[in-house]
Amino acid sequence: MNIKNSSALNISDDLKKNWNIVQLKLKEIYGIDVYKSWIENVEAKGIEQNSLILRVKTRFVRDWIVSHYADKILDHFQKLDDTVSRIQFEISEIFVNDKISNIFDFNTKSKIIDIKDTNYGVNRIDPRLNFDNFVTGESNQLAFSAAKRICENLGHYNPLYIYGSVGLGKTHILNSIGNQLKQLQKKIIYLSAERFMYQFVKSIKNKDTYKFKDIFRNADVLILDDIQFISGKDVTQEEFFYTFNSLIENQSQVVISSDRSPNDLDRIQDRIKSRLSGGLVVDIQQPDISLRLEILKKRCLAEKDQFSKDLIISDEILTFIANEFKSSIRDMLGVLNRIIASSRIQNRNPSLQDAKLILKDLFSNMNAVVNIEDIQKIVVNFYDISITDFLSARRSRHIARPRQIAMYLSKKLTTKSLPEIGRKFTGRDHTTVIHAIKKIEDLMHNDKKFALEVQEISNRILKK
Ligand code: ADP
Ligand code: MG
Repeated sequence: MNIKNSSALNISDDLKKNWNIVQLKLKEIYGIDVYKSWIENVEAKGIEQNSLILRVKTRFVRDWIVSHYADKILDHFQKLDDTVSRIQFEISEIFVNDKISNIFDFNTKSKIIDIKDTNYGVNRIDPRLNFDNFVTGESNQLAFSAAKRICENLGHYNPLYIYGSVGLGKTHILNSIGNQLKQLQKKIIYLSAERFMYQFVKSIKNKDTYKFKDIFRNADVLILDDIQFISGKDVTQEEFFYTFNSLIENQSQVVISSDRSPNDLDRIQDRIKSRLSGGLVVDIQQPDISLRLEILKKRCLAEKDQFSKDLIISDEILTFIANEFKSSIRDMLGVLNRIIASSRIQNRNPSLQDAKLILKDLFSNMNAVVNIEDIQKIVVNFYDISITDFLSARRSRHIARPRQIAMYLSKKLTTKSLPEIGRKFTGRDHTTVIHAIKKIEDLMHNDKKFALEVQEISNRILKK
């Protein structure tokens, strides 16, 4: 599987761009933790005989990617470049001698253990997430109170197990606990279960699991986010179980989050499940409308403090967003951010109509309600050029620019792949489409008037 002499491979810009797109797609699918742990540092080295060559640091990473993400990677890559039919890995192995002692390090000042292995991203406690900016309501009150309670009295509930579906504030609460205890000079380890597993397997390979265990056993508080990822691998479960037991015996606090209750965890040994349920198990439920509204209001206030004082997002808009997004606070805040960002670009307070358009844009992105022919028609009308010229090989600016805008909007507003888009533009290559997207993005970035023009066309398409 190893490919030698990789320097001979030609790393084209297109490949880099395509790989970047695939990486971001995976981030979207699997979330930031997985992305940081497994995807971010993988480099695309070249394409050889229909194989995409990816460079990873170790065999372990390769195996993990092969067993978890390779299908998706290939799928998405093929959407951009259908000449590729396989993935091969090149291993750089420079980190094989990493010792666990280099990976974990007590930072004497903060008493927080940071994981220094920057190659796989760092699980830092996020200082922006605290109890003060967590809004409570019926759905999360229990989890919130329990979290505060253990900060006042370590071990009061041990372990504290918080579960709920994605985007409902688990990570926020876990970080709040970390931030609060940090002030009390406690030794805290905060990491996702996926990274716990990764570090552990690495320590087995380096034959220094004893150090790994010591580090965990010396903590006052162990915070493990997203424990559902720890399923599978017996040896890791075993280790987790021992670490867990010794922490509890030492009366160290353990806090765990998951997307499901202990009993619903797949492929986790029963005795671990019952251990996990041995303290307090609380769930976070779907937020009701008043909580959703309050969270939005609080976020608007925070934004105001940070940026422009005169930005106003009306209650009408906030109510509209709160009504549309019932199941994930993350998604709801994502929409608010988009509305705020676009108001900043346009330098005016958004109307309800603006907000609706942004949302419609989001939905149509997901559902592909727009087709490329419609986009082409509207662009052609907007610039008053003929569709024949538009689809011809002519390169004069007044034809080429609208064509690029149409390609850009096709990417933005439909789910078509780059090669598919290229084909709809009289068989142009996907690299031409990438070039067009890049060009339009640059222009929009540097020229506000142009950005508004594209926005206007996009609005016309979506209003159709
Ligand atoms: P989870 O870990 O459950 O998937 P997160 O903790 O990452 O969810 O929350 C998603 C986003 O929503 C974060 O930006 C978080 O700050 C925010 N959020 C969730 N619940 C609340 C709340 N009750 N008050 C304020 N912000 C919240
Ligand atoms: Mg989370």
